[in-house]
Amino acid sequence: MGAVVRQFVSADPSKCIGCGLCEFACALEKEGTLDATKSRIRVVRLSPMANAAVACRFCENAPCVRACLRDALYQDEEGIIHVEDAKCDLCGWCIEACPYGAIVLDPERTTVLICDLCGGEPKCVEICPTEALSLATEEEARKLWHESISSIVSEVKQVVERGAWELLFARASDIAGKVEAKLKELAKMVASAGPS
Ligand code: SF4
Repeated sequence: MGAVVRQFVSADPSKCIGCGLCEFACALEKEGTLDATKSRIRVVRLSPMANAAVACRFCENAPCVRACLRDALYQDEEGIIHVEDAKCDLCGWCIEACPYGAIVLDPERTTVLICDLCGGEPKCVEICPTEALSLATEEEARKLWHESISSIVSEVKQVVERGAWELLFARASDIAGKVEAKLKELAKMVASAGPS
């Protein structure tokens, strides 16, 4: 049997606007709430013109699993990290071990939250208004990241050196419509989930 090709939710920083809709959709889908602190994907601001959303990358021989002193984490054959809530005491060693900052504390349930890809159809990917999120392998994600950062650098140069602010305004106005449409989608999800 061939090796399983690991995929994870990968962000394109040249497209991510930092709207946080992915966090809301995740919290709603996985925890039944709009409390974004319970999201398994986290938006990070890289610069005033670049953001990225970070979720578990299902590392091979995952350092979080190795770091857990209580065997509360295990990794299945597809790379997904599972949490046995009853064993977790929130010591935080897994969080410290994660190179991507992709593990979230849930003090209410005394456990940690880790992306499980929503069974292969992640809600964060679905809700993103700018199509900044996709499922990618490690190699694809690295390539995308490098291309994306280069395009951000040239865009910043264009704006700063040539004063091409209209570029940004035109893009913002296009994106505003997409965000509005996705907010309506989220409202429908809320209505059908009936979150707390
Ligand atoms: S929904 Fe998309 S654009 Fe908005 S923060 Fe998340 S990844 Fe970025």
